Amino acid sequence: MSERLRRHRETRGGAADPLHLLEEHVRAGRPIDAAALRVLGQRTGLPPAALRGTLSFYGELVPEPRTARVCRGTACTLARPRAPRVPVDEGAVPGVYCLGYCDRGPATLDEQGRVHLAAGGETPSAPAVRSIGREAIVTRHLLKGDHSGLAKARAAGVYGALAAALERGPAWVLDEVERSGLQGRGGAGFPAGAKWRRCAEAPGERRFVIANGDEGDPGSFIDRVLMEHDPHALLEGMILCAFAVGAGEGVLFVRGEYPEAVRRLEAALAEARRAGILGPSVLGSGFGFEVRLFRALGSYVCGEETAMLNALEGLRGEVRLRPPYPAEAGLHGQPTVVNNVETLVNVPWIVERGADAYRALGTAASPGTKALCLSRAFARPGIVEAEFGVPLGRIVEQEAGGGDRGERLIAVLLGGPMGSLLGPAEWEVPVCYAAMAERGVALGHGGLVGVPESTDPAALVVHLLEFMAEESCGKCVPCRLGSQRALAMARAGIGPADLPVFEELLGLIGTASLCAFGQMTPGPVWALLARYTERIVRREAPA
Ligand code: SF4
Repeated sequence: MSERLRRHRETRGGAADPLHLLEEHVRAGRPIDAAALRVLGQRTGLPPAALRGTLSFYGELVPEPRTARVCRGTACTLARPRAPRVPVDEGAVPGVYCLGYCDRGPATLDEQGRVHLAAGGETPSAPAVRSIGREAIVTRHLLKGDHSGLAKARAAGVYGALAAALERGPAWVLDEVERSGLQGRGGAGFPAGAKWRRCAEAPGERRFVIANGDEGDPGSFIDRVLMEHDPHALLEGMILCAFAVGAGEGVLFVRGEYPEAVRRLEAALAEARRAGILGPSVLGSGFGFEVRLFRALGSYVCGEETAMLNALEGLRGEVRLRPPYPAEAGLHGQPTVVNNVETLVNVPWIVERGADAYRALGTAASPGTKALCLSRAFARPGIVEAEFGVPLGRIVEQEAGGGDRGERLIAVLLGGPMGSLLGPAEWEVPVCYAAMAERGVALGHGGLVGVPESTDPAALVVHLLEFMAEESCGKCVPCRLGSQRALAMARAGIGPADLPVFEELLGLIGTASLCAFGQMTPGPVWALLARYTERIVRREAPA
């Protein structure tokens, strides 16, 4: 939020959650005219121009009732030609990136918020989960089934680390997380402890902790599974973070495309409040912390932390220029930690077992483990938790068992459309933020989408550019218009004479875009173009 807007809201007051106030207004079928904008402006503290901007931005801020949607994530798109039909007319419903069932798709969402899978079943149970390292950290409860209920979670030891931490004090927790070397699992691999320290030491009247559950990378679903089946472990991680940095308020920012996660987290919050785990005195310690759930209204870019802050403040979900960083000036201009779900679920283990035990796992540059999500194109899809340092090829060939039904995989798309497309010759790369960065490989959220040999590379290019054109937040021209122009070219068929223009366009998008979305999304398209030039560049103009 700009200084000017912030001052405007401070002097005018305003709702804590303008976005859902607008949603209520729009869904009730009320008009958006000058009178309505005046009233909404008074209630939200936002000027009419900002309200108009917000109303035109979010895919879910529409008057029509919620409709069924078909998953157009990469895994479902690749699986669709070979899958049996699902009980929703896929051609007649809008698409969504993505529903987080990449291991069992194609998936569709019906009007009641139930997921249907080609493999059968509704709102299904957790996927196959395995741990191949010396320790299971984020999957330790998932391996023993669903732990969404408080009684079962507590029996498994959840909130034990919190009770111990409350005795030892916030400085000890902060030191321990900092020493552990825990890195954010959202893609950048930024040290979580450094972020927490910066937030704890920044001046501010209020402090916030936000769990980023906006897992938009098609191909990744670990955060969905954790939110649905281990929500109390996530809450414990959030409370530990809040205790360490001195935050009193927390937000669970969850994708609207994950309705089951929303339901289960709401239930977990209610249980935690009733049990005195959240509220004015966490476990009777005198430390107060409350968490609210924010259901996102459909925008991939809101997974970026500054765009997420804008959404929480009722503004367009566009990225903010940094600095200042959210740890210093985040939600409502106050110090804020934004960590993704998997990152926070690591924290109770670190507090329980200690930083040294955590550092003993993985590599020196990337301690601990990473949950890797395997799409349906593999023989054994699901979630594999592995220590950092494991070669990607071991995951693809041994743990995932290669391609489904013996079909050869020509590549894996690692980290979603903003990630890296890697052919078999590149699979020896270790899963480690530093080692991957040295080779220009992006781990992203850790989703692996297998690309079977039967895939048409030209169709995959179109799919990736469709994703970019649809999910661009529109703030900067290279990404907004460049993606649309590139998509139009790819759909029309790229001829030899078009190739230099297409390449120049991709280069421009990658270098001149404002945020990582525009800078990185051309990467997999480049990789396909380089590897399959003959199959993508048409010799003949299309008829
Ligand atoms: Fe928005 Fe794309 Fe620009 Fe990022 S690169 S700010 S997503 S338009």
